[in-house]
Amino acid sequence: MKFLVKTYGCQMNVRDSEAVVALMKAAGHEQAATEEDAELVLVNSCTVRDMAERKAIGKSGNLASDGKIVGLMGCAVKRLGEDAFRKVKGLSFAVSPRRIGLVPKIVADGVYPRLELDDGDEIPTGLDAHDVSGFKAFVTILVGCDNRCSYCIVPDVRGHEYSRPAAEVLAEARALVARGVKEICFLGQSVLRYGRRTPAWPDADAAWTEPFPRLLAALCEIEGLERVRFTSAHPKGCTDELVRACRRFPQVCRHIHLPVQSGSDRVLAEMGRRYTRAEYLAAVKKLRDFDPEFAVTTDVIVGYPGETEADFEATRSLMEEAQFDNAFVFKYSPRPGTRSAALPDDVPVAEKERRDQVLLADQEARGLKRNQMLVGTVREVFAEGPSPRNAARWSGRDSGNRIVAFPPPPGIRAGDSVSVRIVEAHPQILVGEAV
Ligand code: SAH
Ligand code: SF4
Repeated sequence: MKFLVKTYGCQMNVRDSEAVVALMKAAGHEQAATEEDAELVLVNSCTVRDMAERKAIGKSGNLASDGKIVGLMGCAVKRLGEDAFRKVKGLSFAVSPRRIGLVPKIVADGVYPRLELDDGDEIPTGLDAHDVSGFKAFVTILVGCDNRCSYCIVPDVRGHEYSRPAAEVLAEARALVARGVKEICFLGQSVLRYGRRTPAWPDADAAWTEPFPRLLAALCEIEGLERVRFTSAHPKGCTDELVRACRRFPQVCRHIHLPVQSGSDRVLAEMGRRYTRAEYLAAVKKLRDFDPEFAVTTDVIVGYPGETEADFEATRSLMEEAQFDNAFVFKYSPRPGTRSAALPDDVPVAEKERRDQVLLADQEARGLKRNQMLVGTVREVFAEGPSPRNAARWSGRDSGNRIVAFPPPPGIRAGDSVSVRIVEAHPQILVGEAV
């Protein structure tokens, strides 16, 4: 059957979709080039904010009314359960995140409507299937989350934290490298908690006492693997041993996505983030002391219940102190069943919008300033392809995950490593020349 997967949400969903594509192809199905061409469309949904969920649900409804066989996957399925079929008229099946491995069987059975819901504790299926063509790949090392931040629905929809055994992760990484992958990004909601709730290693190791740095070290032993990334991280895991792994292995990229959410200690406590502003800034300092060019990016929520002007200003000043290289700003959206959903959503929409705009403008200026400090430096860039904004250039990323554009040297191919001298800085992009 000709199928297509449409993905909403985070990198975890991008990775899950890729696994489903691989499983469907292995079952003999063919990937359609366009939506029109597809008989079956799988919509991988997000529910982290109301708006995100609406998009996936709306799209699924449109596809079903166009006569497609529609399967809804992902986070919104776990939140909605049976309701998914009421919200999407004509929906054929719905599969929660830990059961995506069942998709080919559901399609083969062809018995609709069908709902597959995991219990939040089962070991997910289909995690190691890959459909990679390029030089980069994601490897999921940890699923679920047990942090239970007050605003967040992720623990409800992705279940309890489960770390895949290190042997399994490393075997998957080796197979990817054998297929030509040279950059691997480890994925999880809180990857630095790897091996904490469920064991990852069968024994102790003299060199590494923490399971995550140990996994990084083992990954870096794989010959041919040139870059290693991971996302997301929680400041509590920014330990000396993590920095030691970065220092020891140049393959570990100099970038961390370290969501801060707020700069106000009062709000952080209410959110249940388990760190203070000072502790967060200390984690950033530890990384920048090791390497001043270490790129730190973040997520921030504006308009959390009860967020005052002073709380907001605290977030603003934290962002300046932390000197973030990039930031994603989200307007608070109450999610049913979370602790904060019981609080009044009392920051008016227009005020959330204003705070969002202020932080984005600050970050634009800050990003430019940080990038200007890199003018004249030579960055090692893994070329990805023609730049989306200017086809005369190619673009790729440096170790800090910064986008770098440059005129392509003759004969360049995706995945090539290019040394680029930076001549021009913009808030979100560096421009240079191959040297
Ligand atoms: N596991 C990641 C975050 C996953 S959700 C981490 O904690 O590091 C991605 C981002 O969405 C969060 O960092 C947060 O900034 C935002 N987010 C989560 N729930 C939200 C909500 N209810 N309203 C607005 N933004 C939210
Ligand atoms: Fe959500 Fe917090 Fe878990 Fe991140 S750490 S997924 S924000 S509960």
